[in-house]
Amino acid sequence: MARYTGNVCRLCRREGYKLFLKGTRCESEKCAVDRRNVPPGMNVRARTRRLSDYGVHLREKQKVKRIYGLMERQFKRYFRMAERMRGNTGTNLLSLLERRLDNVVDASGMAMSRPHARQRINHGHFTVNGRKVDVPSYLVRPGDVVGTAVRERSQQATADCLTLAGEKVIPNWIVVDSGAKTVKIVNNPSREDVRFQDIQEQFIVELCSK
Ligand code: SF4
Repeated sequence: MARYTGNVCRLCRREGYKLFLKGTRCESEKCAVDRRNVPPGMNVRARTRRLSDYGVHLREKQKVKRIYGLMERQFKRYFRMAERMRGNTGTNLLSLLERRLDNVVDASGMAMSRPHARQRINHGHFTVNGRKVDVPSYLVRPGDVVGTAVRERSQQATADCLTLAGEKVIPNWIVVDSGAKTVKIVNNPSREDVRFQDIQEQFIVELCSK
């Protein structure tokens, strides 16, 4: 599946928001949003322009796509799935995105960032219920156990990431066993479990339902 391969700090500056795509650098003083929080590019008028309603809605959608590393087609697919589910479409959408395997690996501290989680999954470092899964978009369900492949370098890399993650806050819907290097999914994620609490999902629903 296609993915964005350019400078990710530009994406944060475009949104004026920390998307946390670079691991420990995002917490340091090197973060581009902290140092230079203006949109990238030379067009000064575009930088200061007041956004229309459509613009505000569009930026919210782009922000979510960029947080989860999705292209437009993939995002639309999740939106259609969320619409077909019972309950609030916006909450369903965020819940689906949280259930992606790359998000689980990142949230548990078994990778430094979501792009790093995606790379580790692609390289076959993880299993789900004992079977190798190398698809970052795999949707986990309650009861699933995400484990680290038995290869020594997989085990070592996960151990290193867990050590660096240290006191990272783990969401309530997953339980991490640092010793066994596994993550158990105990629930579906609720709205409160989404790490980016200030996402305005109703804007996305209004935009995509048109
Ligand atoms: Fe975004 Fe992280 Fe780069 Fe800061 S360091 S701009 S949060 S990707």
